[in-house]
Amino acid sequence: MTNEFLLSTEQEREAIGQELSALIARLYPICRSKTGNGVRETMRIIDEFAGLEMHEVPSGSQAYDWTVPKEWNVTDAWVSDSRGRRVIDFQQSNLHLLGYSIPVHRKMSLAELRPHLHSLPDRPDWIPFCNTFHREDWGFALRHADLEKLEEGEYEVCVDSTLKDGHLTYGEAYLPGATPDEILISAHSCHPSLCNDNLSGISIAALLARRLHAVPHRYSYRFLFLPGTIGSIIWLSRNEDKVSRIKHGIVLACLGDPGNFTYAQSRRGNAPVDRAFAHLLRHSAKPHRVKPFEPEGYDQRQYCSPGFNLPVGSLMRTPYGAYPEYHTSADDLSFVKKDALADSYAMLLSGLFVLENDRKYLNLSPKCEPHLGRRGLYGQAAELGLWWLLNLSDGENSLLDIAERSGKSFEVLKRGADALQQVGLLRPLDGGDGGTKGAA
Ligand code: ZN
Repeated sequence: MTNEFLLSTEQEREAIGQELSALIARLYPICRSKTGNGVRETMRIIDEFAGLEMHEVPSGSQAYDWTVPKEWNVTDAWVSDSRGRRVIDFQQSNLHLLGYSIPVHRKMSLAELRPHLHSLPDRPDWIPFCNTFHREDWGFALRHADLEKLEEGEYEVCVDSTLKDGHLTYGEAYLPGATPDEILISAHSCHPSLCNDNLSGISIAALLARRLHAVPHRYSYRFLFLPGTIGSIIWLSRNEDKVSRIKHGIVLACLGDPGNFTYAQSRRGNAPVDRAFAHLLRHSAKPHRVKPFEPEGYDQRQYCSPGFNLPVGSLMRTPYGAYPEYHTSADDLSFVKKDALADSYAMLLSGLFVLENDRKYLNLSPKCEPHLGRRGLYGQAAELGLWWLLNLSDGENSLLDIAERSGKSFEVLKRGADALQQVGLLRPLDGGDGGTKGAA
């Protein structure tokens, strides 16, 4: 399974980085929000890679304590000065319009316009990402430097939008494996032109799904592309019957910036997915952070709510809110790097490889050491951790347990276990094929 599952060459890694950058560039201009045609267009593009089932949930539908909002769509939005020049223009950046702005078209003074304008005095060249989800209102966001240039006078304000009963759209890809037990991969898809927070997660999830369509896997996979918070709440409320099948899960976000990896643990803290990523990060020999669970951040808040308590962690590079570009126009195409994207993709594949291959083996020659030299394995014994594998494969310890105890990497131990299985010294305890023959 090693060669098919993991990236094996530098060229392959390079190509994935290019492809992720190109996909992000394609999704970047689209105006996404919690609902609307921008989300549909995004899902149609993701579908080319992941093979999606699209869901449309009517406005007003209930999901636990939440109600599906009205659908929001924008055709255009601008503010023009007395000479008819557009001083704020949605066509230049969709961040200029506050998400969920209601329609307006009239003239007003600067004093009247001013309370509707949002900027960042500390970052005068960046446009902040703002919304008005919870109050029916309208507003514009702009560079503070541009705000300061606005002169007294009459302005024409136009928000050509609709906010009415419609649907909330989300995408789901289910890839059956050899077992109905599932790995959940979830990414939020509700941000407009922001690359690291949102597009990096969506794009990496899309390309992971494409790879898993092509290689055999033991687990079934469920990929969710949904608006943050309300999307995962809707999915959980409509799929309670499937939740017990989720054995591992990971929320993807902020995976394209050049910062170090941050893994946020599931609420359980010691779930196999938590241990798998802690193991991989420890062996990466790069600075990283493993963060205990907090009921904040992305959709693990819902997956790890006490009524579900699913084993769902989150992989990020620099976490949300911890980089100044977060939720501003500076989270743009230049902020996400193809090497970082490829590195994140490879780390996630490695995590899935650990989960796919973590199993218990039984030493079939447990009384004293078997003679490895006679089987041509003595030379590799130390490198592949063969003595560790033989000693701890008593039916109690999985490969990940052995990796943690021996300090050896999981991937190396997997090769060692394959070698011992080949000469009849180890037998996997569940299934019997060593995970090499999943369903396509
Ligand atoms: Zn965000």
